[in-house]
Amino acid sequence: MPEGKNLVIVTGIPGVGKTTVITTAVDMVKQKHGEEVLVLNFGTAMFEVASKKGLVKDRDEMRKLATKTQREIQKLAGQSIAQKAKSARIIVDTHTLIQTNNGYLIGLPEWVVTALGPKTIVLVEAAPDKIAARRSEDPTRARDSQDVAVIEIHQQMCRAAAVAAGTITGATVRIINNRQGEVEAAATELYQTLME
Ligand code: ATP
Ligand code: AMP
Ligand code: MG
Repeated sequence: MPEGKNLVIVTGIPGVGKTTVITTAVDMVKQKHGEEVLVLNFGTAMFEVASKKGLVKDRDEMRKLATKTQREIQKLAGQSIAQKAKSARIIVDTHTLIQTNNGYLIGLPEWVVTALGPKTIVLVEAAPDKIAARRSEDPTRARDSQDVAVIEIHQQMCRAAAVAAGTITGATVRIINNRQGEVEAAATELYQTLME
């Protein structure tokens, strides 16, 4: 196990496959090296705060809250994640931009990303039409269904937001393409970043 913190932030728009790619990459680390990776899901940390306050019943309702409220919950969740992120290999599963009813909320503002101190910010991407299909075919979530043109712009904006977060922290920015039916290939790239 290496000394010090080795934290990777994994981002990408809803339904692109972040959580799936992370789970596969973590299994690879376990199988090849017998090492654990601590995965911290930012949305889960926010949901714990928001549901205790009685604001939401499921995680997909959070982006519909007033943006001021989302920012307050985000701050508390960021503190709780930064507090837990002390072991050697850590992944934070989150978003660079959240599509709200009042524009994009910045997922990694300075006070969140500085506290996390990532070595790399990964941006998982996929073809917009495939993302639209993954959203509509996943019964476990209530994701917004969207036109491919809107999905494409959201992905472009996420590139800009990932670079902004990298500029604040000095983290590298790695784009990983999660091609249809090729989770293993995307996970191998994430595995390489984790083991670097
Ligand atoms: P969210 O931000 O909403 O949590 P996510 O990026 O974590 O979304 P996942 O839940 O990992 O997305 O994946 C969404 C759906 O897409 C799931 O049903 C998953 O099985 C499927 N999926 C993920 N990657 C691929 C792939 N490479 N090919 C086909 N289906 C995929
Ligand atoms: P997820 O399961 O990754 O889709 O996360 C659930 C929800 O948590 C998202 O739809 C957002 O509303 C919220 N969320 C996750 N990460 C962040 C973040 N960094 N900043 C603000 N909201 C976030
Ligand atoms: Mg997810």
